[in-house]
This record gives sequence, structure tokens and C-alpha cells, in this order.
Amino acid sequence: MKISIHVYFLFFTVFFATSCKIQAQIVYEKLPAARLEAAFEKYRDPSITQRRFKHADIQVLIQKHSTAFQIEKLGESVEGKSISSMTWGNGKTKVMLWSQMHGNESTATMALFDLFNFLEASGDEHDDLRNLLKSSLNLKFIPMLNPDGADAFKRRNNLDIDLNRDAISQISPEAVILKKARDDFEPEFGFNLHDQQIYYNVVNTPKQATISLLAPAYNYETEINEVRGRAMQTIAGMNELLQELIPGQVGKYDDAFEPRAFGDNIQKWGTSTILIESGGYLGDPEKQYIRKINFMIILNALHQIATKGYEKYTTEQYFAIPDNGFQLMDLIINEMQVKVNDKWFPVDLAIRRRETENEAGYFMSGAVEDLGDMQVFYGFETLDATGLQYREGKVYPTAFESAEKNL
Ligand SMILES: [Zn+2]
Repeated sequence: MKISIHVYFLFFTVFFATSCKIQAQIVYEKLPAARLEAAFEKYRDPSITQRRFKHADIQVLIQKHSTAFQIEKLGESVEGKSISSMTWGNGKTKVMLWSQMHGNESTATMALFDLFNFLEASGDEHDDLRNLLKSSLNLKFIPMLNPDGADAFKRRNNLDIDLNRDAISQISPEAVILKKARDDFEPEFGFNLHDQQIYYNVVNTPKQATISLLAPAYNYETEINEVRGRAMQTIAGMNELLQELIPGQVGKYDDAFEPRAFGDNIQKWGTSTILIESGGYLGDPEKQYIRKINFMIILNALHQIATKGYEKYTTEQYFAIPDNGFQLMDLIINEMQVKVNDKWFPVDLAIRRRETENEAGYFMSGAVEDLGDMQVFYGFETLDATGLQYREGKVYPTAFESAEKNL
């Protein structure tokens, strides 16, 4: 009896020791925000400073990494511009990240080049993290999937097709490239990197949705299988970090199934897919702060995947992220008196601006988006026009040759 207790005790001790060892191997420790931020500041690529950069600009940057990364030309755009992938890491968990499928959505592309600098470096305080990622992950990046759109800074490609509605028909060469890259690589995780309009908010709050996240649905029923569930768990971890950086400014993107979209289909094809949408942030028109946030959450997510840290989070935490709204306006003018048929009516005006490309870069123009009762919207600026009356603007009858001449 005494012996058997002793044996049992010994067995328990051995078991306990073994389980501790296993625990020690897979333990996930959250990366502190300050550390991720320091990594960004050190490795930000100084050659990109604003949202509009061209396909030619990034070719130089891709080549800069040709020693540390395996670079492969995947094909060409409609206009014959090369689309390349960059592969890094010796691990067994495959992760694919693609950006700028929509040509004027460049925020994540900037962050990817910062990340390449970080991954390629060595001999600093980040070696432990870098080595962990290198030994656990096999990363494939496709920066700027739509170079023709990027050069014109427009959403669609040069067939005027939205690549995110071309996952199935694959009319566009760019869509063929992305589909083939996924099929050849068969990643466990995928990151679909986009920008959304600055007018997206966290629903029913005046807060801009600076980042919106989604684990796209793979069917109309928006069911959750293991593949989608893993994406949701990873997003919950990303949101935890984001709430430290931009509290209340994270939205959950609409998960209505779109049978032609890449995110939805890549999820369906068995890759846990995460959509990141970079929105707006007050005082950051060139999205350089949002670029930093992208770097931080992508690095955080890769660390979660390498350590299986996402298992600590739940799908309930994902669903607790508030929904995106589309309730922001540049300017709301409240209760302005408008005279029609000799009667006065109090009207709210909601104004949004639009960017138009030109030789010098771009210009902004504002227009009335809607009018009437605008109280469900929020303005970046609001003007209370109570007691003020609307008068039609006067236009000078002849055009000026130049502003200076006519002063
Ligand atoms: Zn997009």
C-alpha cells in the first residue's frame, strides 16, 4: 500500500513536470504595445512618407530585401506591371498577406515594407521575437496586388473591374495571380489588407472606425467552422491591443456573405482569413499613424499565430466588437432656415468631401450628401445654424484669368 502511494506520487510528479514543460513551450505572452511601437519607430521605411506611391517606387524596396526574402514574380497586371511575392521564415505554419487589391488602399502596403525591415534585421533587442517568428512561420507577402489601380490611385484595375468581385470568374490577371498563390501555398492563415472610407464609425457613436476587422463568412448562413473560428480568435487578440491604442475606435465589418469576394472565398477554401480595413484618424490625412497601427497589429497577430496565443481568446470576444456604421460627415449644419414658396423650413445639411486626382496630386471638393433630419449622423465639424437663413451664393459674371491679377 505504501509503495503504491509512493508510485502514484512519483507518477504524479513526473506528469506534473512534463505538463509544465509542455506549458513552457507553448506559453503565450502578450507583446506589450510599447515594444511593438518601438519596433515600428526603429524599422519604419523612410522612403514612403505618404499614401500616394507608385509601382515603380516599391520595386526598388522589394529588391532591397532580395537576400533575406525569396522574391518571386507571380505574373503581370493588365498593363504589364509585375506582381511579386516575398517569402520569409522556415516554420511550418503558413501565412499569406496581400495588400492593395484596391489601388487607392495603400495603408497596409506601407506597413508591410516597415515589417520587412523589421524581419530582415538582426542583432538587436527584437531577435527573440524575430527568431520565434522565423522558426514557427512561413510567411508569403504580396504587396500591391493591383499596381495599375495604385498608379492611378483608383480602386479598380485597368479593366475597370473590382478585383474583390472577381475571385470566382477570374477575368482579371491580378485575380488569377491571387487565387493561384493561395492554391500553390495553401496557407493556414490569410490577411486581406484594405482601406475603408474615413466616414465609417463605430455604430451609433461619433468615433471614427480607425480600424475595422472581419473574419469573413464562407456561406450565406454565416456559420462558424474551425477555420473561421480561428480567424475570429486572432481578431479578438488584435482588438485587445487596439483598445489600448485607439479605445472605442475599432469596428466589426459587416459579415454578409459575398460569393464573389476574395476574403469570403479564401475563408471557404480553408485559410483562416482576417480582413483589416484601415479607416480614418483625426489629424492623420496621410494615414501615417494608421500605418503604425497596422504594423503593430499585424506583428501582434503573427506572434499570436506563431505561439497559438489566439487560443486564449473566444469567438464571443470577437462578436463583442461593435459593428461598423457609416454615419460620419465632414460637416453638419443644423436647423438652417430655408425659404421655399415664401415659407421657412428648418433643414439640416450633411456635407462630405471627395478626393479627385490631378497632376499635382489631388484636390478635395465638398458637396451636400443628404439633407433633412440629419440627427443620425455625426460631423467632424458641426455648425448650429439656428436663426440663420440660407441665401444662394453669388457667382461673378465673368471668369478671372488669375486670382492674383484680379485682387
Ligand atoms: Zn478594399
